[in-house]
Amino acid sequence: MTEKVNLEEQIKLLIELQGIDTRIFKLQDDLDQIPVDIQKIEDEFTQVTADLKRAEDGLKVLQLKRKEKEMDLNTKEDSIKKLQGQLYQLKTNKEYSTMQEEINRIKADGSLIEDDIIKILDQMDAQSQEVAKEKELLKAEDAKFSAMKKDKGEESKKLETELQGVKAQRAELAAKVDKTVLFKYEKIVNNKDGLAVVPVVNDSCQGCFQVLPPQVINLVNIKSDIILCENCSRILYIEE
Ligand SMILES: [Zn+2]
Repeated sequence: MTEKVNLEEQIKLLIELQGIDTRIFKLQDDLDQIPVDIQKIEDEFTQVTADLKRAEDGLKVLQLKRKEKEMDLNTKEDSIKKLQGQLYQLKTNKEYSTMQEEINRIKADGSLIEDDIIKILDQMDAQSQEVAKEKELLKAEDAKFSAMKKDKGEESKKLETELQGVKAQRAELAAKVDKTVLFKYEKIVNNKDGLAVVPVVNDSCQGCFQVLPPQVINLVNIKSDIILCENCSRILYIEE
């Protein structure tokens, strides 16, 4: 020890330093939150993009189904035409009625396929509406995402500038604090989520809110040493 450190003065400096560090921790927290917020919106955007893709794929499947059914129907119609052409070449009534039955059977199949096609067309209508809805959602989400990214970018710049300013203030103030005292303070501030110096209010530590024994409060009042809370190990002071 080269010179006697004025503890009362040092504690005043620490209280001031705590004020600055509280701001730094808050600014850093706000900055750290920005990429988290952006990721959240990005995830929503990805989700809506996937929903649109699913709706479009569903529509494609229906289009294929419709094409298949239409080809099926064409084949049936061709068969009917072919059989109808052959009807008049037949020699006996029996042959004729057998072929007529065959034609009727194919016609019945064809009308079932037509029913299917109508069902598919209805489904396609509903699916097209779903696609349109998802496209609108994606458009809105896209606009929201772009605006939010821009806002967050500006917010980040603002916070960053403020943080640099506060850090410069901190460096200036920290230079005035005794090295040993500063070392002690910084160890606590880093271990205790940014809160190292706390007042005693109504006989309780404002870091952990435990009631302090009278002898500890006495020591804090005397201001001849740095007194830590026995419970949370933070530096205690009495508010003036
Ligand atoms: Zn405490």
